[in-house]
Amino acid sequence: MQEINAELIHLHECTFNNISLLEQILNELNSAVVAKELDWIANSDIYANEIKTNLEKHFATDYGDDIKRVLNSFQDYYITAKKVSTKLINSNYNYENINSDTALLVKKYNNIYELFNNLKLKLKDKIEQNMNSIYENSNSVISNGSYIFILWLSVSIIVTVYISQDFKFRINQIVEETRQIASGDADFNKRLCIVSYDELGDVTKSINLFINKLHQEHEELVATKEELKSLYVLDSLTKLYNRVKIDEIIDIEIQRINRYINNSVFSIIIIDIDHFKSINDTHGHLVGDTVLEEFALILKNNARATDYVGRWGGEEFIIICIETDANGAMSVAEKLRTSIEKFDFTTVGHKTASFGVASSTKGIDAKTILDNADKALYRAKNNGRNQVINYSNLL
Ligand code: GH3
Ligand code: MG
Ligand code: MG
Repeated sequence: MQEINAELIHLHECTFNNISLLEQILNELNSAVVAKELDWIANSDIYANEIKTNLEKHFATDYGDDIKRVLNSFQDYYITAKKVSTKLINSNYNYENINSDTALLVKKYNNIYELFNNLKLKLKDKIEQNMNSIYENSNSVISNGSYIFILWLSVSIIVTVYISQDFKFRINQIVEETRQIASGDADFNKRLCIVSYDELGDVTKSINLFINKLHQEHEELVATKEELKSLYVLDSLTKLYNRVKIDEIIDIEIQRINRYINNSVFSIIIIDIDHFKSINDTHGHLVGDTVLEEFALILKNNARATDYVGRWGGEEFIIICIETDANGAMSVAEKLRTSIEKFDFTTVGHKTASFGVASSTKGIDAKTILDNADKALYRAKNNGRNQVINYSNLL
């Protein structure tokens, strides 16, 4: 059961990455068309190949057929997207079928976006089902254990009563202690008191051994539950929160600020490492991964205890600053920017990052606040990188 969950969670994480890679492809092709740079079109191949590799890795799973369908649709979209972008540039945005071609392209993009999303939802449902069944199993082990325990105890008591009426007082004592163990939230730390070294003492010892075993099983189940919970909400490389958890926190924050009449506010910081691609190109993917791990640690060590730090995808990170307005978030971001600038990363030395900050307003939704932070980040990149930009300064 645990293995199925680990595989599913991996696939779920990969679907999240694919959605962000798909968005990157759209950005790359858009920039190529806007700048009329034919050469730039090939830049998006890196993301397309990553999506292909991600999907191919999971062909052998139970979702193989779904994934193959998704890959076919993606390739169909990507070929069309490159063709239309090339035509737009070559024709100076003016050729005969421009309207029908672009409409078809948008349709294909929406279709593949929806396929990725549906796969993500399907996997999320399956993971939740699996987790529920683990919880149910654990509960039934505990309650089955309790039934067997009570049955065994009753038999032991009856046998003991037959053996000697003298034991009545001590049996009552055992029953009382057993009741205490069985009552409430099954406190597995309690043990029966061994008051004699005769047959009754042996019964008590056996019962205690049985409780030991139940206790051990209970602890193993609790540990498994905790492990599954962390697999579900943490990014496997950096151990920061993943998109699942961050999405959940943003939703909770939005509900919170809309529920209160006073000026409740929260802010989002999106961070993108500058020129990260060159690390992979020069030193390889493994060094790139180490930089991501070190980068994550800097964010974690320098963010405040109340902030939620997550990996948003690839080399993009996100921080949710609870009860923090734009000024507060700007100073958190500026502090992080300087810490990163000063840090000596393994193998690659000094690196920088760009930051986009956006704050909530009454009635805002998750997509809007994320888009705002993205726009600010985009401006930080265009302004020359290694800087923090606040969305409200763009207005
Ligand atoms: P910019 O300053 O504009 O952000 O430049 P950049 O090179 O950082 O550009 P971009 O954000 O487009 O590049 C991201 C690269 O990060 C491309 C992708 O291959 C790489 N990447 C994404 N995820 C991972 C990962 O998990 N490990 C490694 N090593 N690289 C990754
Ligand atoms: Mg990026
Ligand atoms: Mg980058």
